[in-house]
Amino acid sequence: MTQVVESRTSGKPAAPGVERVHHWIAGQAVAGTSGHHGPVYDPATGKLAREVDFASAEEVDTAVRAARAAFPGWRATSLARRAEIMFRIRNLVDAHRSDIAAHLTAEHGKVPSDALGEVARGLENIEFACGIPQLLKGGFSEQASTGVDVFSIRQPLGVVAGITPFNFPAMVPMWMFANAIACGNTFVLKPSEKDPSASVYVAQLLKEAGLPDGVFNVIHGDKIAVDRILEHPDIAAVSFVGSTPVARHIYETGTRNGKRVQALGGAKNHMVVLPDADIDMAADAAVSAAYGSAGERCMAISVVVAVGGVADPLVDAIKSRLPKVKLGPGTDPDAEMGPLITREHRDKVASYLDSGKHQGADLVVDGRQHALFKQSDGFFLGVSLLDKVTPDMECYRNEIFGPVLEIVRVPTYGDAVALVNDNPYGNGTAIFTRDGGAARQFQFEASAGMVGVNVPIPVPVAYYSFGGWKASLFGDTHMYGPEGVQFYTRAKVVTQRWPDPGSSRVDLGFPRTR
Ligand code: NAD
Repeated sequence: MTQVVESRTSGKPAAPGVERVHHWIAGQAVAGTSGHHGPVYDPATGKLAREVDFASAEEVDTAVRAARAAFPGWRATSLARRAEIMFRIRNLVDAHRSDIAAHLTAEHGKVPSDALGEVARGLENIEFACGIPQLLKGGFSEQASTGVDVFSIRQPLGVVAGITPFNFPAMVPMWMFANAIACGNTFVLKPSEKDPSASVYVAQLLKEAGLPDGVFNVIHGDKIAVDRILEHPDIAAVSFVGSTPVARHIYETGTRNGKRVQALGGAKNHMVVLPDADIDMAADAAVSAAYGSAGERCMAISVVVAVGGVADPLVDAIKSRLPKVKLGPGTDPDAEMGPLITREHRDKVASYLDSGKHQGADLVVDGRQHALFKQSDGFFLGVSLLDKVTPDMECYRNEIFGPVLEIVRVPTYGDAVALVNDNPYGNGTAIFTRDGGAARQFQFEASAGMVGVNVPIPVPVAYYSFGGWKASLFGDTHMYGPEGVQFYTRAKVVTQRWPDPGSSRVDLGFPRTR
């Protein structure tokens, strides 16, 4: 979890010449009036790149009022027209992939190939929402009783809010707003204050696509803005993605205030490698999934569970690949892995290397030996590998969220499953094997919301839904896909008879089918 409250630059004047990121309310950029703002860094240089307005409770109220005012017109807009606008949004996001990706590289630090991948996976959610006329079709039962028909419809909730993390500044908002607005809701987004520019850029594209003003709003800020969202009486539902402690707070506070809430939390994803697995394929997958995006993915593999005799050759294969991983800024076309989001986060991640070593793990590769860690002002940490990690160690018990891969060695498949299932998180997990029966058994008994078989990062495609179990999700609806449509709508069942004066009579008994 990054510390949102500490980044608050309370009351200080803006740094001269530094660009400000403003809120987006009712179809236009709106400068903050609270007097509070936060720093936005270029993680590759460590320099202050921008400052972002932090909203007061009153500014959140202004955004909610705009969304509320837009709701009646938007929900009455025909499905044909809403789908047309979603298609236009799809085309504009597609045409501006590189521009969105550039914002991600500038403020998050992810390298361009990774940033473009994020936009592509977000775009899939917009494409899914283009099918909204089909997705909102209800059921119809003719002649449920004599002369009576029954049908179901799904209607939007009203104003809904999204609160998103720093690690996917474009994709995670798309997970939420695409279905939310296609279903006829209006939306207030509170993106991460660490990398806020992509959301405002996308808001401009939505306006250009013809989305009416007020249907999509962006409000920046910290806990003050979030807590106002959680208590605002005109917000019907909240989608959250972020760390587990905040997810729990969002779920408990939001539901206590009568809102529908889905709150996705942190993760510690295990990749089980059985003795029959293809070692090279497993090593390639582990390196890609552990260090891609500098390990700052909620579906990153952070633990490899090596079963039996596979451990030594697997660790050797992983270790041999690490010197080739190219660390660098997004401006370097060869860079495969960028910096971490802030200096504080980078140092916290690095501290787990010492704690792991002190508690008995082997520090096989120490990312602090990398030249960019030692010499650059950017928030870089090289790829790091801890072997012989055990479940009691701090480095195992916490979500590290950085380029640190841990190896836990276990004797049997049963021990591997027990380890996965005992972990408090349950986002994703994967198994690498050539044995179809073992893979099927793993899929049957693994306690996680998303399972990969020889696939290390099993993020579901947009027409399934995304979500973990246990401390990785609070609420009962997963995000995007069919469950996203369900989350952003409520069901109504209509029982209908057209008058037949000939058969009309008074009947005080409980209505029965005839
Ligand atoms: P975070 O929890 O610090 O912040 C998420 C959002 O909550 C931000 O908008 C932030 O401004 C706000 N926030 C932070 N502290 C708050 C507080 N005390 N009260 C109210 N609001 C607060 O998360 P992060 O550091 O931005 O993102 C990384 C975390 O997100 C990791 O734990 C990662 O696993 C998780 N994540 C999970 C998923 C998933 O699908 N399960 C996806 C992406 C990221």
